[in-house]
Amino acid sequence: MNYGRVVRISPLAKVTAPLTAGVLALAGCGAERTETSVAPVCAVVADGGPVVDGYRTDMAAVHTSSYSVVTANPVATRAACAVLRDGGTAADALVTAQAVLGLVEPQSSGVGGGGFLLYYDAATGAVQAYDGRETAPAAATENYLRWVSDTDRTEPKPDARASGRSIGVPGIVALLAEVHGEHGRTGWRELFDPAVQLADDGFDISPRLAGAVAAAAAHLAVDPQAADYFLEADGTPKPAGTRLVNPAYAKTLGAIASDPTSFYTGAIAGDIVAAAADTSGGRTPSQMTVEDLSAYTVKRRAPLCTGYRGREVCGMPPPSSGGIAVAATLGVLEHFAMADHKPTDIDLNGGRPSVMGVHLISEAERLAYADRDRYVADTDFVALPGGSPQTLLGTDYLAGRAALISPQHTMGTAKPGEFGTSSAPAPAVPEHGTSHVSIVDAEGNAASLTTTVESPFGSFHMVGGFILNNQLTDFSAEPAGPDGVVIANRVQPGKRPRSTMAPTLVFDQAPAGQPQHRGPLYAVVGSPGGSVIIQFVVKTLVGMLDWGLDPQQAVSMVDFGAANTPETNVGGEHPVIDTTDDGDHDPLVQGLRALGHQVDLAPQSSGLSVVVDDGDGLVGGADPRREGTVMGDAK
Ligand code: GLU
Repeated sequence: MNYGRVVRISPLAKVTAPLTAGVLALAGCGAERTETSVAPVCAVVADGGPVVDGYRTDMAAVHTSSYSVVTANPVATRAACAVLRDGGTAADALVTAQAVLGLVEPQSSGVGGGGFLLYYDAATGAVQAYDGRETAPAAATENYLRWVSDTDRTEPKPDARASGRSIGVPGIVALLAEVHGEHGRTGWRELFDPAVQLADDGFDISPRLAGAVAAAAAHLAVDPQAADYFLEADGTPKPAGTRLVNPAYAKTLGAIASDPTSFYTGAIAGDIVAAAADTSGGRTPSQMTVEDLSAYTVKRRAPLCTGYRGREVCGMPPPSSGGIAVAATLGVLEHFAMADHKPTDIDLNGGRPSVMGVHLISEAERLAYADRDRYVADTDFVALPGGSPQTLLGTDYLAGRAALISPQHTMGTAKPGEFGTSSAPAPAVPEHGTSHVSIVDAEGNAASLTTTVESPFGSFHMVGGFILNNQLTDFSAEPAGPDGVVIANRVQPGKRPRSTMAPTLVFDQAPAGQPQHRGPLYAVVGSPGGSVIIQFVVKTLVGMLDWGLDPQQAVSMVDFGAANTPETNVGGEHPVIDTTDDGDHDPLVQGLRALGHQVDLAPQSSGLSVVVDDGDGLVGGADPRREGTVMGDAK
């Protein structure tokens, strides 16, 4: 496969100044460094420079030898890479990455949130799916998000998201403890050292964090801890480059490092309950209790693995809809010769997507979203049609769905399949935020973690130096449709809100003559982006598997696709798209409009993190729309 221009890490990379986001830097991650004696591991290569107009142009794939980590923030990537360098496993590096991300990218993820992890154990060939999703408190009945109470039928104040009602019982700490218990090698405690040190010594607010603080300043001002941390004394948002210290977070991590269960049963649990019930600014309190926290469990799910172009694609089953929708989309696309529709003018930024390529993928996604919207919820509460994902992913069923696609005209809005069940389609809920971590360690184990506090800064409630999620707004606030038919994804006590997160692992074909064995790991993929995650992951997979793009090109390529509406997204932040006059001069936009698509050119904010094993080492790609980097060992 031709990977075009490639940045390789020089074996004698010079150690220079400490890393700052968005700057070309070369930095070792060892403690003692001299110019020539430090192995050039965990070095930052050209990271694309600052994000300009939502995009870093001409990023090149990063080739490493035996291990690689991609996160959405260079400080987190480097800390996780150092764990891998020192012999840690992917599970170990994941713990450090999350602890640092919770500090330097608190708008997206942290210990007050949840996540989904697919883990590949190279020794056994097993893929495990960890569900660390937030859970509705026992008191959260079906009107929890829409009414203050049965007697006060007004919306929680100031709105459901910014009230205490949106806060689910956090799951990520339990998830990390569980995967570390099963796959960790480095001591749990020391994995928190980098984040504790950074929290105590301080770190500089990155441009992306500064933008998020500015956008959320009015909400952050309502919460005493958040205001104190993110805003100046006069209430203005702290700008990029401001040094932040977070001793409260260092203390929280210290407690988790000593005993992760203390998060759920000790003083931290009490503090979380109190913060969630805080009524500053007239906020409606949460009804979460310490019993809700102590009852939290990570759930083990059966990974959802399906075939595509001879490879095996494994995703997350419910309560995420991501795995099912990605698999359904690919299953429909398998009926089309996608390789005939590759982008033209392929360059480092992925080239210019073809009209038919975007059309077919968007149509397949409309069909997949139609089923997802209607049928997918927490399967511990609401069964899928036929009682398993196989009904929505059956070969004959998807062949029938593929036959609904016309190459001449968009279907606009797709109908869900009919299975004789009576769930109503859920109204769309706003979602933006989240982070994705992709890791391969030196033994070939891999972690694909999508981690989230749901919207930027979650519920805007802060405690112990971290943000509490607003994940419960991923439920439908309305328990039933206008016709009274119940909505599968309505709030119920102890239920997990439907997600769109789609951590993905791809494997090559099984070895010849051994179909029962899993083939070698090919790719680790995932992205934030709320309900659009499905589109980000699909375009990346098709980019690599059908169009031969390297992971960076596939990530950098225009973000496009559709949910189940007549609108088709074409990311206007990409330099190849001409957005003047609402795209009237852009050939892709023109072509899609001729097929009846209503093209939406709003900038897309994927945060794809991808690692591919090309048989000759690892190749990583970080999203040019965010601040992330790829690091690993020398090639
Ligand atoms: N809460 C969303 C989900 O679970 C993710 C939010 C985002 O990616 O911004 O699907």
